[in-house]
Amino acid sequence: MATCRSDNPRSGEDCEPLLPDQSKLRYFSAVARIFMALLLLCATPLLQEILMAQSVAGSKPTDPLTSAQLNDSMRKLETELLEKYGQAQKPRLSSGLHQVMEFWRPEDGDAATFESFVRTNFAGDQESLDTMFMRFQRLLEQLDGHMHEISREFATQQDLDLGPIRSYDEVFGGYDASAHVIDDFFQNKLAFIVLLNFPLTTLDERINDGPHWTRRQWAETRLAERFSKRIPADVNLAIAQAGGDAGNYIARYNVWMYHLVDGKGQRIFPPKMRLLSHWNLRDEIKADYGDAQNGLPKQRMIQQVMERIVTQSIPQVVIDNPQVDWNPFTNEVKPAAAQDSDGPAKSAAKITNASEPDLRYATLLKTYRASRMADPYSPTAPTLIDRRFNEDREIPEERLKAMLEQVLTSPLVPQIAKLIESRLGHPLEPFDVWYAGFRPGSMYSEAELDASVAKRYPTPEAYQKDIPNQLVKLGFAPERARYVADHIIVDPARGSGHAMGAEMRSEKSHLRTRVEKTGMNYKGFNIAVHEMGHNVEQTFSLNDVDYTLLQGVPNTAFTEALAFVFQAQDLALLGLASPDPKNDALKTLNDFWGTYEIAGVALVDMAVWHWMYDHPEATPAQLRDATIKIAKDIWNQYYAPVFGKKDVVLLAIYSHMIDSFLYLPDYPIGHLIAFQIEEQIKKSGSIGPEFERMAKMGRVTPDLWMEHATGKPVSADALLAATSEAFKQVSQP
Ligand SMILES: [Zn+2]
Repeated sequence: MATCRSDNPRSGEDCEPLLPDQSKLRYFSAVARIFMALLLLCATPLLQEILMAQSVAGSKPTDPLTSAQLNDSMRKLETELLEKYGQAQKPRLSSGLHQVMEFWRPEDGDAATFESFVRTNFAGDQESLDTMFMRFQRLLEQLDGHMHEISREFATQQDLDLGPIRSYDEVFGGYDASAHVIDDFFQNKLAFIVLLNFPLTTLDERINDGPHWTRRQWAETRLAERFSKRIPADVNLAIAQAGGDAGNYIARYNVWMYHLVDGKGQRIFPPKMRLLSHWNLRDEIKADYGDAQNGLPKQRMIQQVMERIVTQSIPQVVIDNPQVDWNPFTNEVKPAAAQDSDGPAKSAAKITNASEPDLRYATLLKTYRASRMADPYSPTAPTLIDRRFNEDREIPEERLKAMLEQVLTSPLVPQIAKLIESRLGHPLEPFDVWYAGFRPGSMYSEAELDASVAKRYPTPEAYQKDIPNQLVKLGFAPERARYVADHIIVDPARGSGHAMGAEMRSEKSHLRTRVEKTGMNYKGFNIAVHEMGHNVEQTFSLNDVDYTLLQGVPNTAFTEALAFVFQAQDLALLGLASPDPKNDALKTLNDFWGTYEIAGVALVDMAVWHWMYDHPEATPAQLRDATIKIAKDIWNQYYAPVFGKKDVVLLAIYSHMIDSFLYLPDYPIGHLIAFQIEEQIKKSGSIGPEFERMAKMGRVTPDLWMEHATGKPVSADALLAATSEAFKQVSQP
């Protein structure tokens, strides 16, 4: 579906979280997918745990398969099969047997079944192994492709501008035909065949040995990974439930801005303005830079609201309630003296300013406790923290942290802070971490741009027809432009637009774009060009990658970066002059400041998860106090010297921290990756061929992908170098 970064200031799309682009993991529900981690060899304790869990759960107690029996079988099989296939197969056989044993449960069969399964399915010579590999690759592509096709068709009424959505359309849209595929594959033992013949790997191995692997070895690695976990259904359900509950808690967390009053009882926000924490509150702070009259008091008031949410001193009664007025400075609450909502009064209960009872932290704790249930089934990535870094991001936590610290401690930070101060005309205040004044102005009015776009693209078909032409303008050879355009279908989107790739080569990717009755407008065009960037990447990374098992890019930060390369060319595609270099420089400073802000937010998220793992029995109140301390410490270390104020808790306001299972570090890393790719494209001089070369690399580790693309691993250097240049340019009179 739509792939974009909802926190990237350059993107105006409807966004969903930045999940790893591991399309092969789609069999898991979105939440369970977050927990995909590597299960590895030699975990006899795990096996015993599984066996115990099984017998507790009441599965056939008559002939329980013990690990001792399995070990006997393994020794027997090893001797027998090495005699048959030769000693050269020893490492493969030994690792395969361990992998199968690790996931084998009593209901999979007794010792005799295990032995006969291994005898039948071990590919002991190269030819059988090649046949097996090719067959799995081809059939899994078919499975993925058709499952995806079903999902796309079932969601069509919801996604496209095709008239009313009926109740059953929502059910179709929510249905996941592939939900039980992994269970089925363990049951019919196809998963065990993969585990018997192809190696599971650790992140260390993928980072250290991966650069020397053949492409086939990489493809085998990704094949095995699909079956690296067998999490019990009730655990997956508990995790999904905790994630869902947290999402609901966040989704209802609105603040009615007209009902915020200052010391004089004045309302500085307009009626009916209802802002969701934290996204809308933060975006309002950004918008307030444009309000010369009331901007500053509005920003100060929002900061006060945010701090009360973090510290949980916010009165419970003011959350999503237009029936009360609230002074967030004194914390006084009164019945609303003015109405801006037709809704019924929330509750007839007496209005008090009793605080929200730490629900924010109780909710977060629940997601932690649910995540922890998967730990025993993930022995080599035994915490959610490990799974997020080693499995989803494939960047070790320490390395990621070092990159963030490189940005946070850059000498550019105080320089740019000074520049912001001089542009504002007053000293920085803490909410200026969201300073938005580096946005470049446009040479063209919105109306001019709308008119130009509407004339070119009165219908989705007109856009479809123009794709080859656009691609040639972006530097693709005419023949490549036609090839790519033939793989893209343009559909009329119900929402603002998204790109939906295909999962098998016989399918095309879909560009969903919004076209009004009066034709496409500029905003719609800008998004369409971004989504087209996704489609082009999807086309190359599926159809032109050497193994379909490697289809895609390392994670969504990469496809976003590639899409932004396209989006930045939107004016050029309209035949209008591109922004001048100074505008480019402003955009870079804006991105740098955004990265500086979100890097601290990510560090808070990381530290809070470590704290929870270190304090498994913590109460919500203890977690609240710990989070406040962590947020203050990180602020005091990296922000207080710049802002001249200590002990600020704003870095803990992000809603993702409550409902997204350690997802925030993806944002700053996304910025770094975007800069590296943009710089490389600039260096190469032509977008088309360079874009194609990068996108064909497929889903290897982020570092390996980036080495191939730019000659360097993922790093903050490109962002810092570009910022330094931009700073010089903007500082010049
Ligand atoms: Zn996107």
